[in-house]
Amino acid sequence: MRVYLDNNATTKMDPKVLEAMMPFLTEEYGNAFSMHIFGRETGIAVSEAREKIATLLKVKSEEIIFTASGTESDNIAVRGVTKAYKNRGNHIITSSIEHPAIKNTFKDLEQDGYKVTFLPVDKNGVVSIKALEEAITPETILISIMHANNEVGTIEPIKEISEIAKKNRILLHVDAVQTVGKIPFSPKEIGADLLTFSAHKFYGPKGVGGLYIRQGVRVAKTITGGGQEKKLRPGTTNTPGVVGMAKALELAYQNMEYEIKREEELRDYFENKIQEKIQEVVVNSKNVKRLPGTSSITFKYLEGESILLSLSYLGIAVSSGSACSSDELQASHVLLAMGIEPEFAHGTIRFSLGKYNTKEELDYTIEQVVKVIDKLRTLSPLWNEYK
Ligand code: PLP
Repeated sequence: MRVYLDNNATTKMDPKVLEAMMPFLTEEYGNAFSMHIFGRETGIAVSEAREKIATLLKVKSEEIIFTASGTESDNIAVRGVTKAYKNRGNHIITSSIEHPAIKNTFKDLEQDGYKVTFLPVDKNGVVSIKALEEAITPETILISIMHANNEVGTIEPIKEISEIAKKNRILLHVDAVQTVGKIPFSPKEIGADLLTFSAHKFYGPKGVGGLYIRQGVRVAKTITGGGQEKKLRPGTTNTPGVVGMAKALELAYQNMEYEIKREEELRDYFENKIQEKIQEVVVNSKNVKRLPGTSSITFKYLEGESILLSLSYLGIAVSSGSACSSDELQASHVLLAMGIEPEFAHGTIRFSLGKYNTKEELDYTIEQVVKVIDKLRTLSPLWNEYK
């Protein structure tokens, strides 16, 4: 059996998405910016995709730009806002549990002379509101906080953060790569001025993302080229990609409430069984608002990589820490920021469920996890010492 439980890293594209993209991968290949008939047809498809996404997110179509990824949207937003508002101040705030797309962008800006605050989080990964209020200075121009964390699934109190930002006339960017298409919300409802999303996290194609920019917010260009996407993301439009992203979001909204409930039930079943059958496990962020399909589990006295590889051998795909940093064997910065001991952070596995996962797959996974943990622990000096 092959079981894919790494849906926070990326998802399998929905066949209906491929179907919607197909004409633009074959016969309808015109440049959406060209004035001739080939361009007009694809141009219309791009406008319709923008309109569809804007309607689903309850924003105006002029407020959406297309990009090549969540990482690119994050960069355009953070670098573009800091550049545009440079004269107002040079202090920017983020959290200590952001995805590398934000974390490393802030570190880079720090090198360039910006003052950066990385806010602490509590043991569940919730950003400290008190620390945010204390960090704000008259020089603060931007706050960037993720909507939900990709490793543990914690949903951040963005509304509360946005009220503080508004009161202090500071712009708020939200990296919503893990929530758009998974939970229902609008950037306006949560009070984001800019908001990032990425198609491949909600059964769309890879290499296409989007950025919501509230009307009136200034974003300076950070990539130079032609006039596409309000000059913020120049380059020939990825027509199949944006058509696929719009279709994927439409499908996600059609089934969202049902899918949330289904994934939550499966996740709770999975976590309860694991806790029942295996000693010394901790389910991280269990008692806070979190993504329906994300389960971060610490198996004490073990190395996550050996669990991951053993499960992979049995056909089960999971990740240890963040998939994006799995080539580095450092303990996850997210888990460390939550106060988890480094040796326990190393033994943490993320199981991320998606719409294609079934109960049978989870039963198989539970059975195999129990066996793998048991076997690895008999070989673990740390476990034997603990026992
Ligand atoms: N932000 C978050 C929270 C993510 O989880 C990811 C991907 O894992 C990204 C940004 C980057 O998105 P992309 O892979 O589209 O560049």
